[in-house]
Amino acid sequence: MEFITQQHLMISPEKKGTDKLVKQSFPLRLGRYFEIRTPDFEFCFNLNGEIKSIRGLRPDWPHPAEQFKRTIGNDWIYYTVGDKSGSDGIISWMGEYYLPCLPYSSNPVWEINYFSNPVVMNAMGQWSQLFGTLYMANEKGLYPQARDLIERILANDDQKLYQRSRQLIEIIGGRVSVLPPDTRHVDYDIIPLTIADGCLYHCKFCCVKSDQAFQKRSQNSIREQIAALKNHFSSDIVNYHALFLGNHDALAAGPELICFAAQNAYDVFGLRPRVDQKPFLFLFGSVDSLLNSGHSVFEELNRLPFYTYINIGFESVDADTLADIGKPVTVEKVKQAFLKMLEINATYSFIEVTGNFVAGENLSPGHEESLGDLLKNADTARGKKGSIYVSPIKDSPKKRELLARFYGIKEESRLPVFVYLIQRL
Ligand code: SF4
Repeated sequence: MEFITQQHLMISPEKKGTDKLVKQSFPLRLGRYFEIRTPDFEFCFNLNGEIKSIRGLRPDWPHPAEQFKRTIGNDWIYYTVGDKSGSDGIISWMGEYYLPCLPYSSNPVWEINYFSNPVVMNAMGQWSQLFGTLYMANEKGLYPQARDLIERILANDDQKLYQRSRQLIEIIGGRVSVLPPDTRHVDYDIIPLTIADGCLYHCKFCCVKSDQAFQKRSQNSIREQIAALKNHFSSDIVNYHALFLGNHDALAAGPELICFAAQNAYDVFGLRPRVDQKPFLFLFGSVDSLLNSGHSVFEELNRLPFYTYINIGFESVDADTLADIGKPVTVEKVKQAFLKMLEINATYSFIEVTGNFVAGENLSPGHEESLGDLLKNADTARGKKGSIYVSPIKDSPKKRELLARFYGIKEESRLPVFVYLIQRL
């Protein structure tokens, strides 16, 4: 049902987008949501009435496909389509049609200063104005057809949205400081569940690590998180189709805990296949946790009702670089783990292991050469699963210049190669 109010609001109490995420040059809405349009802006809300996205509708908005998206961590991220929309545009290095411009410091190869565009920044002022309009409408008892929606939206003012993001951090016991690059396949919309804290290495170069030593969570902690998360996501949980098992090395937690967490979350959250697509499970692994996992581990994971992405931080196959970045693994181990990634991808239909390598202006010259060799000689005879992500070191100068070198590696690689943008939840 749609109707126009006296204040030129077009309110759609419930809309239905696509059932499964489809990659398109124009953002197709996914799942069920609410929408309010003014002559100048489109505002989308999730089923809890929390603001989710804002898109400009006037001709001076930078591009019809650009928008602000608010994450469950309460970050407003600006999605830009960049200045090229063809196959050599953002899609060629991100694997997606959009570049998320993050409102915090990260490792972008391409920074867009959207803050300086008053048309774009006006979106936030318009959101405040809409909130005020809805408040007045509710006070006067206007628009009874949309009363439930208006009340839900009013119950989620900026302070409440901030508190809810803090509550989420409390539930899982710490902020997710980085999401696996593969979560781009669900536009970073995941339900987080922590099954282990800390990591094995505490590498010198890493800007997302915690100080904690690696430690598994108990089954009890996982059960408690799942119950609290179901309550937290509330009505909107039906829109989720992906689970992230945190934190930095969930693979090291072992198959028993991974399967316990994944299966329980699947049951309690009501995750189900959509059309022909299984729900997604994302986790990080490390060189050692991958090498220490026997085939029985992957057989178990392959039987889960998920399509599982495991992202491994390889970083380099150059000894000088591994030493410079303070990654305590040997070149031999990295190579073995890389081969194991190819083998797992070829063997298991519902598991995809992907890998990260660093990039940076000041790395040893052997880094790019050895990485290029590794990727161009990768045995992909049994399929091309397993993307490689190149992640600029955060403080590396001249990140934009790295793109040209990235294309050099990508062109020669037998595996798909993309840039990894460090994005938190
Ligand atoms: S790169 Fe991974 S293993 Fe190394 S410190 Fe960061 S989170 Fe830990």
